[in-house]
Amino acid sequence: MSTTKTNLLGLDSQAITAHFAAMGEKPFRARQVLAWIHQRGAQDFATMTDIAKGLRQRLEEEAVIEAPRIVGDSVSQDGTRKWLLKVDGKNAVEAVFIPEPSRGTLCVSSQAGCTLDCAFCATGKQGFNRNLTRAEIIGQLWLAERLLTEATPKRSPAGQARHVSNVVFMGMGEPMLNLEEMIPALRLMLDDRAYGLSRRRVTVSTSGVVPGMDRLAAECPVALAVSLHAADDRLRDQLVPLNRKYPLKQLLAACNRYLERAPRDFITFEYVLLEGVNDSEAQAKALCGIAKQVPCKFNLIPFNPFRGTEFRRSSPDAQRRFAEVLQHAGLIATTRRTRGEAIDAACGQLAGRIADRTRRAELRA
Ligand code: SF4
Repeated sequence: MSTTKTNLLGLDSQAITAHFAAMGEKPFRARQVLAWIHQRGAQDFATMTDIAKGLRQRLEEEAVIEAPRIVGDSVSQDGTRKWLLKVDGKNAVEAVFIPEPSRGTLCVSSQAGCTLDCAFCATGKQGFNRNLTRAEIIGQLWLAERLLTEATPKRSPAGQARHVSNVVFMGMGEPMLNLEEMIPALRLMLDDRAYGLSRRRVTVSTSGVVPGMDRLAAECPVALAVSLHAADDRLRDQLVPLNRKYPLKQLLAACNRYLERAPRDFITFEYVLLEGVNDSEAQAKALCGIAKQVPCKFNLIPFNPFRGTEFRRSSPDAQRRFAEVLQHAGLIATTRRTRGEAIDAACGQLAGRIADRTRRAELRA
């Protein structure tokens, strides 16, 4: 990455306006450049034909538009496309695009690795290196739109203006531990002059970082998903170690506070089904008790085994029975169709390549 020039890719509307003001340029110039970068995918100032030549030259000297470098690009049979993105000399993260008839969902990463070490998670096993910058976060969306447009210039089959209609922060990392960089990136996603995504179509997923949930609600509320995975503290302590710091009672209270400002009137609870661990009918009934405390929907995720894991995917029968207990209680529970498995792009399989500063992977070996 360049160090001397300013990377305009990560500047939200306020920041790019301030940057242009410091250059002695008017706010409308900042707005024009913002639109060139994010709406038209421009990387080269020379292509910004409605910007005065002198300013273009100055921008070339002082600024860059620099996204992570693509080092892997694979497409699975179901159309799911996964990119491995190099963010520095040592670390690469993953982003995945999942096309569906009515929408296109981009799953993005917020950190290189993760500090939290959830028991069933491939990312957690890789350890942690660093937070991604705002340019690296928004750069995943910027790149995806550019590459998908190159592949299919006609845009999506559903006729949306863009290929990506939904963004979910369910790739590598715990977004709530990187809000300093996440919030400007989220603002760009929502900004009509950039990507113009609806707050309801941008989902941040957390394993339950309570102070982060409160901050996100106050500063940039978008849809919220919570990785629940257990209905009692004893099991959740094992599966999601962060639960020892923010146990279920605190987490559920934070969910209800979040809903006061959220763009949706429910929280999505993610629940990965692990054979013989959390997939019994009694555990499904316990989840119904949680649903009485927080308006919610359940997203049941068949576990995707990865090398070295001790967990197994619940049988189709167990998955069905579990969902039925919730549904018979009047709850909305959908079982996520596993997509992109052949390219390791299904949930909990995003691993990237991390120079582990925590030495977690090494200590395990
Ligand atoms: S599930 Fe999420 S929070 Fe837990 S280790 Fe994996 S990436 Fe981190």
